[in-house]
Amino acid sequence: MGHKRAVTLEELLPQAIQGIQTLKDTYGQWEVHPSQHVDPDQVEGVLAELVERLDDNFPYFHPQYAGQMLKPPHPVAMAAYIATMQLNPNNHSIDASRATTAMEHEVLDQLAAMFDYPVDYMGHLTWSGTTANLEALWVSREIAPGSAIAHSADAHYTHARMGEVLGMPTVGIPTEADGRMSLDALERELATGRIGVVVATLGTTGLGAVDPLADIIPLARAHGARVHVDTAYGGFFSIIADELEPETARHFRAIKDADSVVVDPHKHGLQPYGCGAVLFTDQSILRFYHHESPYTYFASTERHFGEIQLECSRAGASAAALWATLKVFPLTKQGLGGIVLPGYRAAQTWHGLIAESDILQPYQRPELDIITYLPRVTSMSELDRVSHAIFEFAADTTRPQQTHLATYVVTPAQLRARGIHLEEDAERGRIMRSVLMKPEHEPLIPEMHHHVSMWSRRAYEATH
Ligand SMILES: *Cc1c(COP(=O)(O)O)cnc(C)c1O
Repeated sequence: MGHKRAVTLEELLPQAIQGIQTLKDTYGQWEVHPSQHVDPDQVEGVLAELVERLDDNFPYFHPQYAGQMLKPPHPVAMAAYIATMQLNPNNHSIDASRATTAMEHEVLDQLAAMFDYPVDYMGHLTWSGTTANLEALWVSREIAPGSAIAHSADAHYTHARMGEVLGMPTVGIPTEADGRMSLDALERELATGRIGVVVATLGTTGLGAVDPLADIIPLARAHGARVHVDTAYGGFFSIIADELEPETARHFRAIKDADSVVVDPHKHGLQPYGCGAVLFTDQSILRFYHHESPYTYFASTERHFGEIQLECSRAGASAAALWATLKVFPLTKQGLGGIVLPGYRAAQTWHGLIAESDILQPYQRPELDIITYLPRVTSMSELDRVSHAIFEFAADTTRPQQTHLATYVVTPAQLRARGIHLEEDAERGRIMRSVLMKPEHEPLIPEMHHHVSMWSRRAYEATH
């Protein structure tokens, strides 16, 4: 093995294309049907227009994009995806995806090991965290028909929406000042006896807060409820649990004791969109998936993913891309952990700088790699105005100078809980939020802080 360096998709692409062409050439030749012929000049024009239209985006790939949960897939994932996509296997059935179904089993074993799941777990990849969560909630409904879902008030909105889809009532459990689900409020809700499943979010989408899973599990068990972990965003922080606050790490280590878990490789796993995963500890839930399909499963007696998932067609290329990525970046501290950790450190460093700032103040301490902060103002309406102006000013400059941030809506009560008392002349107001999910953010933090402070001063002046 040689020495490590950055690689580009461009340099990996010839192998991804040529290798598959050689494979195809081992079969007999055939002519492309004239109906599929195109005018290459026209295609060139279309692609040129595509590239031009794609310019209408924020630069998600750039470390100065520190806004939402967006980052480009790794070139290894892209090359593996493109290589596989040329054959377009469908991991719905083994017949449609022999090689990539096997790869999916391999990556699932690695995800299960990351969460310390038993070797006889049940699980599969999905198109998204949404469908993965839907499946876990659906299993809960089948186990306890008529029961309700309890999730934190800060949980992803998907749980309330999927509750509607499934005809299950949902209850938002209030959060504490750190954004974590309140155990007292949960216990009161569990005491009603109507909760069938508690959803613990490890890494809320807004704040990156980690619900107290290790304490939720015994409470839920005492009331006969299942526990589902939504760690779509945060799951890969399990690898670096040792580096997190002990209290945060304790909850990541409790994932193994929950009934099901969702993680999105298309968030922190370097994958292109279309890659979520759901795992269950207990195989007996397989009984809910039984269905007849005379037209799909025929050439194998082994279990097809289509038999154990809600979705039907699913890209084998996703499994291949994740498989290749985990070969290069295994789920260890030195592997993918080395990519996740710098973002965490960047968040801690920036939080420290903001705490000492005379123009900005932290909203709360970042538990993962998402920071939230606000300008030092006196009223809610002022907060909203200045925050919005910071967001706009930071991005409204020459491209190399731009910093892209995001905003997050809070109430006076949420601010008060964090010791920030503002005149309540509005019911809500925006604060600043940055997701630091690229390792390249870390060295840029002092500079980004300097810029954001400067834009904050200008935003304050412009709105007063
Ligand atoms: C992103 C996210 C989801 C939704 O997943 P998608 O892959 O966007 O469908 C659900 N829960 C949490 C905590 C998330 O961060």
